Amino acid sequence: MTDPERFTGNFTQQEPIPEEAIEAALAVLRHGRLHRYNTAPGEAGEAALLEEEFAAFTGARYALALASGGVAITTALRAFGVKPGEPVLTNAFTLAPVPGAIAAVGARPVFVEVTEDLVIDLADLAAKAGQAKVLLLSHMRGHIADMEALMAVADAAGLTVIEDCAHTMGGGWGGAPSGRHGAMACYSTQTYKHMNSGEGGLLTSDDDEAMARAILLSGSYMLYERHRARPPAEVFQGLRAEVPNISGRMDNLRAAILRPQLRALPAQVARWNERYGVMEAGLAETPGLRLIPRPGKEAYVGSSFQFQLPGWAPPAIEALVARSAARGVELKWFGAAEPVGFTSRYSHWGYASPPRLPQTDAALAGLVDLRLPLTFSLEDVAQIARIIRAEVGALWQAGVGPVSPG
Ligand SMILES: *Cc1c(COP(=O)(O)O)cnc(C)c1O
Repeated sequence: MTDPERFTGNFTQQEPIPEEAIEAALAVLRHGRLHRYNTAPGEAGEAALLEEEFAAFTGARYALALASGGVAITTALRAFGVKPGEPVLTNAFTLAPVPGAIAAVGARPVFVEVTEDLVIDLADLAAKAGQAKVLLLSHMRGHIADMEALMAVADAAGLTVIEDCAHTMGGGWGGAPSGRHGAMACYSTQTYKHMNSGEGGLLTSDDDEAMARAILLSGSYMLYERHRARPPAEVFQGLRAEVPNISGRMDNLRAAILRPQLRALPAQVARWNERYGVMEAGLAETPGLRLIPRPGKEAYVGSSFQFQLPGWAPPAIEALVARSAARGVELKWFGAAEPVGFTSRYSHWGYASPPRLPQTDAALAGLVDLRLPLTFSLEDVAQIARIIRAEVGALWQAGVGPVSPG
């Protein structure tokens, strides 16, 4: 009998920084003006140019570069006046830095149920909308809710929507770039996201006052006029004394690395989606495995892949994770009792004292997640799909997978 095939690639290895970005970084290192406000006469600076280009890319009026995605979220919450002790609604399927950002401003996360398709449940949102003035909507793993319907619920309740687009940078809904439905959108340029500056974040908005507050909050001193994608100077006048300077800026070195990556982003999105398509085709109609449907209005970025094992008992899912790992395929399970690595779920965030959310528990119980870095070839992805399919099939046939009905 021949040995089963084994995958030998690395699930956390991203592509190298493009040569053009390395050149841009070296230019900044050679002149030494790394701080965003340290510019030569007539020079805009890399951070200001990145903001201008990111605003143009998303179609937003204003953009702001920050130190991380988490700082972008806390800045957005503060810009809309979220105060300590206040409740902030957020979908229960997200990553730890999202409720963490709410906690960072002293506010209290109130979790909203998600559907089996991994997006916020609009009925539960409508039911809870009266409890808060802000919804921090996380497009977790790139799954985007019906944004027209969501905004109708939010508008009816007077909820301000802040979008966490860490997994949808380069994606969209109904022809609009992701982040253009809410009042402000937050992005991350951390290594595992769609552009890589190690750490970094971006904010976009059309709102004059909120963006002026965000720029002042980011640590702009009285240098906000150096920003190019900013509200008119008079908007800052009344705010400059009132808004604290909470340092969270991006520097010119990271901005320099990001500008060429932003130009390449649409092509990178197409490459991710080719890989996503190969994975989806490779796992289609696998007995015992449910794929997450992708709505026609959603322009997703397939940088990760999720599937569900509905009704599988926890030991069977643990067996699948172990057997796949033995064949080189790294699967993350969102239903695990204890948080592992980057993977945790709402019930692990004890500081928020979350009540049980039965629908979210059901959606996450059998939820499996894997990364699709661009260092994988299409053949790599096809092989990963074959391995998962074979291991799911073996467990399913042995009958240890599903909880037997009765
Ligand atoms: C990564 C991430 C963040 C936080 O971004 P950092 O740049 O790591 O602070 C927020 N939300 C989601 C969904 C993320 O994946």
